[in-house]
Amino acid sequence: MLYTIIGAGIGGLTTALAFERNGIDFQIFEQTPKLLEVGAGIWLAPNALQVLDHLDVLEEVQQKGNTIDRITLGKADLTPLSDNYQNNIKDIFGYTTVAIHRAKLQKLLFDKIPENKIHLGKGFHSYEELSNGKIKVFFEDGSNIETDYLIGGDGIHSKVRKQLFPGSKTRYSGQTCWRGIADISLDEEFHHRGIELWGNQIRFGISRISENNVYWFAVAIDKQNEKDEADTKKKLLSMFNDFHPIVSNLISATSREHIIRNDISDIKPLEIWHKNNILLIGDAGHATTPNMGQGGAQAIEDAYYLSELISKNTNKNIFEIFEQKRRKKVNQIVKQSWNTGRIAHWRYGKGLRNFFLKNAPKKMIEKQMLEMYQIDKTVSIP
Ligand SMILES: Cc1cc2nc3c(=O)[nH]c(=O)nc-3n(C[C@H](O)[C@H](O)[C@H](O)COP(=O)(O)OP(=O)(O)OC[C@H]3O[C@@H](n4cnc5c(N)ncnc54)[C@H](O)[C@@H]3O)c2cc1C
Repeated sequence: MLYTIIGAGIGGLTTALAFERNGIDFQIFEQTPKLLEVGAGIWLAPNALQVLDHLDVLEEVQQKGNTIDRITLGKADLTPLSDNYQNNIKDIFGYTTVAIHRAKLQKLLFDKIPENKIHLGKGFHSYEELSNGKIKVFFEDGSNIETDYLIGGDGIHSKVRKQLFPGSKTRYSGQTCWRGIADISLDEEFHHRGIELWGNQIRFGISRISENNVYWFAVAIDKQNEKDEADTKKKLLSMFNDFHPIVSNLISATSREHIIRNDISDIKPLEIWHKNNILLIGDAGHATTPNMGQGGAQAIEDAYYLSELISKNTNKNIFEIFEQKRRKKVNQIVKQSWNTGRIAHWRYGKGLRNFFLKNAPKKMIEKQMLEMYQIDKTVSIP
């Protein structure tokens, strides 16, 4: 049985690697002619790291990224609202979080996939379900192939999803995000910390991703599809001028071409992610806002569960079972992330919000984290 994956992002590449490791026949098609050097970092939470460990790439990920073992949510001046040392997470799962440049992550996954199975510069156009049960896949360049199963891993604006579920909708959160990589060496106290500072309807995140590179993000409320007319750096420096000085140091140490801007959106949760032999994974099926740092991790989890289920090789409808396995956790994250984004940008009641954050029971936060990071190591078919 041949599985065809559309999209070589984090989800598509991890799925391809998991299929390769499990001896599942696959091919993967990506629209861009070469892997993009996307100028941003990503946090890989312990659930993602467990899958990457299972796929034998964890050591390389750790070497190419930077371990984060303390996560601070603070006020604009860096006074902590919550400050979590991740020792207990490390005791339970064996590791904490890794912050890494996205391009490095994509490249190391890409390099593990046999050349003849990955096709760049092949934009998916549409598909047709044939009467013999197979699927014909058409590409933008006019070519086509036949496959047994089609997996849409083509991101939040997925064309596979648009054909499969034409009524599906993205939701704009009302917030926009700038991401940058600063060429700067931080003081030692910041080496292994993930930091997010909440100000007056704006916030700023910081994490070191290598010796002299720091990934940062800035979030603010704005209309959808707005562009920066004036100098972006100047604009951000003025926006964050009353934040801790580390923020302006980071913005100043980032070249303009290393700052990207994206609106923050997710997908209104779909009732199902598959129909017949076509399935959506990652952002294509369940894009979430980034407030829990879990979108990529959930795409990576998809890869793990899907490949484990397929390799059990039963005649049952694996896509149906996959959905049952994944839906509850994914929906919970999408919802919690959406709500967190709202709270972070509350216009009124900032003091009350900060009070609750400062006084939220540690045990409750820990319980939520442990649930989110849990992976079912012995995936079984009901
Ligand atoms: C600001 C921000 C910060 C984030 N931070 C984190 C974080 O710290 N941790 C985390 O886990 N997640 C984070 N995320 C979420 C994470 O980036 C996504 O969830 C993740 O990239 C999803 O992976 P994917 O493979 O499903 O989609 P994508 O990474 O979007 O990949 C889709 C791929 O499909 C290709 N494609 C698209 N259309 C076609 C087509 N027609 N034909 C062929 N190929 C196509 C694209 O070129 C791309 O390569 C963040 C997201 C944002 C916006």
